[in-house]
Amino acid sequence: MKRWMMWTIAGAVLAGAAYVLVGVDVRPRVEYVEEPVVEDTTTVPMPPPMAFGVSMEGMVLREGRVKNGSSFGALLGAEGISAAVIESLVAKARGLFDVRKLRAGHPYAFIVPAEEGSSPLYFIYEADPIQYVVFHLLEGSEYVTLGERPVVFTQHAIATTATGALYNDLARTGADPLLAILLSEVFAWTVDFYRIQKGDVFSVVYAEQSVEGKRVGTPRILAARYSSNGKAKAAFSFGEGKEATYFDDEGNSLRKTFLKAPLKFSRVSSGFTKRRLHPVQRVMKAHLGTDYAAPYGTPILAVGDGVVEQAGRTGGNGNFVKVRHNSVYTTQYLHMRKILVKQGQRVLQGEVIGEVGSTGLATGPHVCFRFWKNGQQVDHRREEFPSAEPIAAADRAAFTLLRDSLGTHLEEAELAMTEGRLVNF
Ligand SMILES: [Zn+2]
Repeated sequence: MKRWMMWTIAGAVLAGAAYVLVGVDVRPRVEYVEEPVVEDTTTVPMPPPMAFGVSMEGMVLREGRVKNGSSFGALLGAEGISAAVIESLVAKARGLFDVRKLRAGHPYAFIVPAEEGSSPLYFIYEADPIQYVVFHLLEGSEYVTLGERPVVFTQHAIATTATGALYNDLARTGADPLLAILLSEVFAWTVDFYRIQKGDVFSVVYAEQSVEGKRVGTPRILAARYSSNGKAKAAFSFGEGKEATYFDDEGNSLRKTFLKAPLKFSRVSSGFTKRRLHPVQRVMKAHLGTDYAAPYGTPILAVGDGVVEQAGRTGGNGNFVKVRHNSVYTTQYLHMRKILVKQGQRVLQGEVIGEVGSTGLATGPHVCFRFWKNGQQVDHRREEFPSAEPIAAADRAAFTLLRDSLGTHLEEAELAMTEGRLVNF
């Protein structure tokens, strides 16, 4: 059962690096969601049994999972496969699959003739939920092929009432609970996830992929709507590219841009790196920020609208300010000579929040600027922020069509909500 569950959970945990203390918890709280067991009562003529593209006539399937520290050679050796065959398969796999990349936890299978004491004929390793590698083990006719399970693309719509844990609310409806994290990103700039009220409604139209009835990969949000106190905020995905861009009903981007730097005129004196020689401590340390050198007293600007989460002092940071922009992004400004804001204060983009100094562990006047995305420090200069431009005039008509059709699905989902039903189309 739940063959891909572990990977799904791993994915959820990764995405759940959104560890911020949000009012509405977007993180997974349950281990996994039990799917309803549907009895299949229809009778269809049985096709000849196949597994991984191999006829199972007179064969048995022996399945397992790669153990920690195990290897291709060890797995096959334990089945009595000779070193010569293993060596030949390693060579034949070259260019198709690197056998050193067997990962602990991934499923594998042996296809073995049913007669007692038989040696396996095939070894199958499942590289991911879609792709598998078939090794033919018969001495003298070894070969390696790649196979793929058919991927099914589907679209759904779901609406749910927030009860305080969006992840669980979505899981209850039967939708992929990872949508909670995606929703917090889509609405990062327009909905304050710290202020979600019980009874607020999220509706979402999304696409997902499945293999043999099990979800694979991350779903993609096509449209979403958040309704609170009779007011609604919508998001529609439009355009190509790896990062989807979301627009409101009017075709304005849901994104706002950050200032490129927290100082008007400055130079980068030290970039973001996992390893650098600390200028004061003289030891190799990660530098999870970007240093901007500037004279004492230079105004430090908030790079985006937000709320001052912290304004204080520590030995290393000196005087610092931390600004939470939304449920995804937070920024921090260190070594200030003077702090000009208070905890809890709302600040606007470009507002002066402090003055450049060298308090804490600093050799000279500079701001160490730190940028958090979903609770992890990232190099803001390497982050790709999708365009914040509205829909181009040339795309208006296409956008309107798409918006209206997706809007209909959002409404269908809201109507079906009382029944807690997933709308498939
Ligand atoms: Zn720094």
